[in-house]
Amino acid sequence: MTGISRRAVCPSCRAPAVLSVTRPHTWHNRAGTPVHGVRESLLCGTCDPAGRRVLAAHCPQEWAALVLNWLATTGDRLPDPVNLAAEEASWRAGEL
Ligand SMILES: [Zn+2]
Repeated sequence: MTGISRRAVCPSCRAPAVLSVTRPHTWHNRAGTPVHGVRESLLCGTCDPAGRRVLAAHCPQEWAALVLNWLATTGDRLPDPVNLAAEEASWRAGEL
């Protein structure tokens, strides 16, 4: 189930989010077993330029178009597998 929340807080600046959206997400662990969860994307009106544009919208139509544009960019975001593997290796080595 996909949901939209207005209660999230930005993890970078701690400001209340303009919007956040959660989407179902499944990944496979090292044993190949699917792990089901959710991915959350957050739109911050303080440190995200897209969030500032949404807050500055002059009419509902502009607001809706900006939100839909933002939503379109959130669906396919995945972590960089190289950076993720490096971070996992650091964590396993006790460096984090
Ligand atoms: Zn922020």
